[in-house]
Amino acid sequence: MTNTNLQKELAALIGSDKVITDPLELKYYSYDSSFEAKLHRFNPDAVVMPKSTEDVSKVMKYAYENNIPVTPRGGGSGETCGSVATQGGIVMDLSPWDTIDEVDMANMQVFVRPGVIHGKLNDHLSEFALFFPPDPGSTRMATIGGMVANNSSGLRAVKYGATENYVLGLEVVLPNGDVIYTGGKNSRAVKSVSGMNITKLMVGSEGTLGIITQVRLRVWPKPKARGIALAIFPNLDDAPATVLDVYQSGILPSGIEILDDSAIKAVNLYSPELNLPDAQAILLFEVDGNPASVDWEGARIAEICKKRASEVEWATDPARMTALWKARSVTATAAARVRPDGSRIFAGEDISVPLSKVTEVLRRIKALGEKYGIKVVNYGHIGDGNVHTAPVIDPECEAEVAQVQKLTDEIHLLAIELGGSTTGEHGVGLVRAKYAYLEHGPAVDTMKTIKKALDPKGIMNPGKLFLMEEDSNA
Ligand SMILES: Cc1cc2nc3c(=O)[nH]c(=O)nc-3n(C[C@H](O)[C@H](O)[C@H](O)COP(=O)(O)OP(=O)(O)OC[C@H]3O[C@@H](n4cnc5c(N)ncnc54)[C@H](O)[C@@H]3O)c2cc1C
Repeated sequence: MTNTNLQKELAALIGSDKVITDPLELKYYSYDSSFEAKLHRFNPDAVVMPKSTEDVSKVMKYAYENNIPVTPRGGGSGETCGSVATQGGIVMDLSPWDTIDEVDMANMQVFVRPGVIHGKLNDHLSEFALFFPPDPGSTRMATIGGMVANNSSGLRAVKYGATENYVLGLEVVLPNGDVIYTGGKNSRAVKSVSGMNITKLMVGSEGTLGIITQVRLRVWPKPKARGIALAIFPNLDDAPATVLDVYQSGILPSGIEILDDSAIKAVNLYSPELNLPDAQAILLFEVDGNPASVDWEGARIAEICKKRASEVEWATDPARMTALWKARSVTATAAARVRPDGSRIFAGEDISVPLSKVTEVLRRIKALGEKYGIKVVNYGHIGDGNVHTAPVIDPECEAEVAQVQKLTDEIHLLAIELGGSTTGEHGVGLVRAKYAYLEHGPAVDTMKTIKKALDPKGIMNPGKLFLMEEDSNA
């Protein structure tokens, strides 16, 4: 079928105003935020923008009957090529469907459609003194549908966990167009162990099992107070040792971030006014809760840091907190400054390792950067071992692209070798699918059995999470 015919048939199904036909507009859907999508553009044959469960179901039934791949898409902020149609077919853009259906304050939950932007949801919830704790750096881009599909989190995961901890129920349109509600079809309970946990199965399935059309999210009381501690460490090994001491003192901060010497250098080049000292690591602790406990915990953290750090500052004043946090908030952008003609790329950017291996992984990534002649900036959520690696290259130089692909491959393998994961929060998509068996072993066969049961024709976001053609003996 030609693209024009496909677009016409989709328009007949759900209305021409919900089908994109302009070739220029279609190009927008050929990439996400990953480096892979900059190397290879994947043009969809058609894009639909449904705004009801009925529309989604009609498109899925049609795609199922005609064996057409369908790739769900939210904000397109993913780093893994997850929302691009790497095997062609239809991209289903859920981002315009952004209604907050209901804030059920009495039952501490909210019902939203998939396209609601994370930051907007929290802006709305704050009017009710509530919040949805997972906090991706992409808060102004990521949709709730995309966050559920990727099981996203952020720096507060150390205390609050990931999206999976808040999803109470989902409306899902299955690959054949059938509609199910997980977590109890009329339930408003926040606690239930009834039935198989299909909600958890859907969370993190990256659009490979169905389209999420409504999310029932648990929300929490918004903490009244916050404080930030910054500590400078001349010796890298002292940073994780300090994190451990804080945990052992009975404190669970809402965020614990690290900048290693590469990140400190990048930040100083980008924001010289910060004038960060020449050190091997900076730790930032965020504490939240009620004012008295925040004060107590902050004072205790500062005391613990002083055992090893050369400088420590604790602040609860909003302006001072922003100033202390600035080093961390600019790091991702600052990374490119380590090389005037370079760009920071999103590849090998999200490994996660046990806390006890953080210093080893940082040192070995540095050595790998030297091996491949690539500058690498490291920072991340040390509280849960999630390291963000930012290689800086000239993306137009083929030789450098080839080198960085070898580097990022080694970074992923290193994470698995150290008992970690190839991704702490950004997901697998296309770019990490090849590591599935290495990371999970024969459990991937079980994932495939589930995939085949729900999607026997393999039309839902094919090519993502694992390689269907590979087997456990490969
Ligand atoms: C600057 C920046 C910072 C980031 N920081 C973080 C961070 O701190 N933490 C983090 O976890 N991630 C982060 N990310 C990655 C990304 O923002 C998250 O993975 C986010 O949740 C993706 O949401 P999205 O709406 O953009 O989804 P998309 O990129 O559009 O899609 C992501 C995946 O979800 C699937 N999907 C989307 N909507 C649906 C749906 N309705 N039903 C079924 N499947 C669906 C897609 O098929 C795809 O597989 C960052 C990205 C950027 C660019």
